[in-house]
Amino acid sequence: MPDHEAEYRIGNGFDSHCLVEGRKLILGGVTIPFEKGLEGHSDADALLHAVCDAILGALAMGDIGRHFPDTDEKWKGCDSAVFMRESMRLAAERGYCVSNVDATILAQRPKMAPYIDVMRERIAALLGVLPGCVGLKAKTMEGMGFVGRGEGIAIMAVVMMKRNSAMKSSPI
Ligand code: MG
Repeated sequence: MPDHEAEYRIGNGFDSHCLVEGRKLILGGVTIPFEKGLEGHSDADALLHAVCDAILGALAMGDIGRHFPDTDEKWKGCDSAVFMRESMRLAAERGYCVSNVDATILAQRPKMAPYIDVMRERIAALLGVLPGCVGLKAKTMEGMGFVGRGEGIAIMAVVMMKRNSAMKSSPI
């Protein structure tokens, strides 16, 4: 069976952005009250970026930097939901949809617990899956490294893509 017809394909994504003053903190499509926000060309939603990279990675389609370059003025200040929808469209073109996602937020501050479920619901809505298909955890780095010093936030994500037999696929 050619690889592009595999029933399941797995992808991983990683992203990190600096925390700076004068920016909103947006993660998983949710604005989180904090004195700093993530720096970036778009809205700098590192969680959605890591999930997009995992989707694209599962289908060997590169990363969001390739599809949505930060040198393009078109993406300046862009809502990262746009990247997510486009990544899903590219996956659907190849006959795949998301089965489930699991992601970890690495952040020393702020406390993410109050926002985890609303982020899961937002990501699930963007991916067209139930919230039960979106796992999301948050950890501090016990004060170590750039995350521990509060200089930035990092995200790790894994996505399982499943073949949608109702969709017509094209070779990857
Ligand atoms: Mg990013």
